[in-house]
Amino acid sequence: MMLDIQSLADCVGNTPLIRLRGLSDRTGCEILGKAEFMNPGGSVKDRAALGMIQAARASGTLKPGGIIVEGTAGNTGIGLAMIGSALGHRTVVVMPDNQSLGKIDTLRAYGAELRLIPAVPYRNPEHFVHASGRLAGQLDASHEHGAWWANQFENLANRAFHEQTTGAEIWEQTGGAVDGFVCAVGTGGTLGGVARALRAHNPDVTVGLADPGGSGLHNFFAKGELEIEGSSITEGIGNSRITANLEGTAIDVSWQIPDSEAIPLVYELIREEGLVLGGSSGINLIGAERLARELGPGHTIVTILCDSALRYQERLFNREYLLSNDLDLPDWYPREAAKS
Ligand code: PMP
Repeated sequence: MMLDIQSLADCVGNTPLIRLRGLSDRTGCEILGKAEFMNPGGSVKDRAALGMIQAARASGTLKPGGIIVEGTAGNTGIGLAMIGSALGHRTVVVMPDNQSLGKIDTLRAYGAELRLIPAVPYRNPEHFVHASGRLAGQLDASHEHGAWWANQFENLANRAFHEQTTGAEIWEQTGGAVDGFVCAVGTGGTLGGVARALRAHNPDVTVGLADPGGSGLHNFFAKGELEIEGSSITEGIGNSRITANLEGTAIDVSWQIPDSEAIPLVYELIREEGLVLGGSSGINLIGAERLARELGPGHTIVTILCDSALRYQERLFNREYLLSNDLDLPDWYPREAAKS
């Protein structure tokens, strides 16, 4: 017998599409979540990591034994480290020093080498994205097998992999019945890739952006200005610039979703549907509910269940932290356990 799974990299994707009962019943639509938290590294970013690594190995920019370098604060670094190790590469992650300990611990547990640097705005040359690009150049020159910078925001292999896998799977799993797709944007790889795949089959599929507070993208699509408003405890989503992976994706409808709606929905899904999801999934699901209201009953709407709440335990289950952000734990969460 030939085993067709050669490494963990072959286990990325082909995630289930799960009907979300509460949202579907409330809206009269079929609201479906693509269970990306079931990827082996625990998030939607396993796909971007695999797509970028495969493209770089195919083009020779990532050589056998070469080092993977990326600027990331979480899920992409975990995906790169996991797939990198499975395929014989070490991974170096440059990360701002204001990130939660949970993420730092997880990246270390996955074997990534971490370089923590001060957090500064993107326009500053010391921002972690720019710093990671420079480090990749230095390591490429000094390491015997070279180094490769993943550059997830601008690397179109990210979007292409979502088009070929996430989007294709959604079309197939819905039997082509999908009317709308909505999600938040970090790099834009997921939204841009899925939108392309679905529109290639049916140009009438409605594409929505669910933007968190603290991001400029909703205002860009609504008013033409990348104006940042509000803030959010969600992580990995929102942006203050149009990345290559987002550019050229027509957005039919966009919303800025407040945490005051998204976070209570996260707790509802835990208690009512057994889905333990991170904050970005909450933003996506409120986006799906709004798109359902816009299209009306009888439509099929798909969104992304990005990762697990367990990745954000110190925030999502910390009453003090939540209260300082005008949020709170649900009544069912034990009060004695909720002390910070
Ligand atoms: N949710 C989470 C938790 C993420 O880490 C990310 C990626 N930063 C996203 C959503 C957004 O995905 P994309 O980069 O494909 O836009």
